[in-house]
Amino acid sequence: MRKLPLHIKIILGLALGLLFGVLSIICQWPPEFTIYYIKPFGTLFVNALKMIAVPLVLASLIVGVSNLGDISKLSRMGAKTIGLYLATTVLATSLGMLAVNVMKPGEKLSVETRDDLMSLYAKEVEKKADSASELKSEGPLQPIVKLIPTNIISAASDNKMMLQIVLFAIAAGIALLEVPKKKGTPVIAFFDGLNDIIIKLVHYIMQVAPYCVFALIASLIVELAGTDAAKAFDLLYALMWYVTTVLLGLGAMILLVYPSVLMVFTKIKYADFFRGIRPAQLLAFSTSSSSATLPVTMDCLEQNLKVPEEVASFVLPLGATINMDGTSLYQSVAAVFIAQALGMELSIGSQLMIVLTATLASVGSAGVPGAGMVMLVIVLESIGVPAAGIALIVAPDRLLDMCRTTVNVTGDATVTMVVAHAEQPKSI
Ligand code: ASP
Repeated sequence: MRKLPLHIKIILGLALGLLFGVLSIICQWPPEFTIYYIKPFGTLFVNALKMIAVPLVLASLIVGVSNLGDISKLSRMGAKTIGLYLATTVLATSLGMLAVNVMKPGEKLSVETRDDLMSLYAKEVEKKADSASELKSEGPLQPIVKLIPTNIISAASDNKMMLQIVLFAIAAGIALLEVPKKKGTPVIAFFDGLNDIIIKLVHYIMQVAPYCVFALIASLIVELAGTDAAKAFDLLYALMWYVTTVLLGLGAMILLVYPSVLMVFTKIKYADFFRGIRPAQLLAFSTSSSSATLPVTMDCLEQNLKVPEEVASFVLPLGATINMDGTSLYQSVAAVFIAQALGMELSIGSQLMIVLTATLASVGSAGVPGAGMVMLVIVLESIGVPAAGIALIVAPDRLLDMCRTTVNVTGDATVTMVVAHAEQPKSI
């Protein structure tokens, strides 16, 4: 059992949790047992994920921006790279929004199940509605005013203020580039170390994920279904649609978007590109970590695809930190799915907010397993959907993480090819 890879263990935890939930309904075990003694372990897991969100954003963004080296380099290749990274991410997020609005996976739930889910999260939604009406009375420009906190420590103490932390971290990263090396280096080293610590913490949390996934799914089924097994299957059916929607979106990125970008901006054939980066894609799939895959991605691009080292060593590390097309696509689908499952209407404004926050949240996600799900909290908070709704999508997350990480790495490699072509048009 110990030797099994983590993702298999998580899938096992999911299956056993399902089995437990369904059995407890069929055999009419007292639901209190599951709710008092099993559910808390699932709650602990979600709390732990939320707990590390703020330090994760701060450290990974400050290190990411300061990786740019110096200001002159920042303005030369940086603008091109960041522009391309942002453009592909916004494209991915929009594709996710399109897919989820066409497939409507959350609406596959029956009206009764949606009502039940809503009453599970009713208290949180009520609080959100209060703050939403407060917001309305403050005028349309208020969100912009709120981007700058009056106190960064108190902003950091509240997960709702994540957008402010993202902006602060980017600004601090840029400022770090302009501070004399003697003073800047220890600060960068500090955040680099902090980043490593957080990545370790994510790793620890992922180690207990199989058990917590068991607790989450078992208690979710018991709470939701009461004694009605039909509702539990209802939820599973909707989850299947959700997974299919994310996979379709990710497939479109790999098979349509990246080939088109390469065709328009470079001379390479997609088959050659694909062959060249295959080892990196496989590693991304099996580790669910673009950071862990980075050395292999660099090797593939430099050795197999002949990208100059100065381009690869600048564009790729930055991409592993800030460019996550698969993650942003997944976050937009997940946010809308949770809202649909709770029967919440999303206005055009909220949908645009998702595109904006999913883009920023994916920028702030570290390239480690599960980071995208942590950052989903920001997207949900920004549209007034209860963050506890993450419990709905945690079960199939590892599988989706493997697939979205593969897209993340492919996206980094695609942009690297484009920048390399712009720098040296003859060779690429
Ligand atoms: N695991 C992803 C990556 O490393 C991030 C995520 O959780 O979406 O690229």
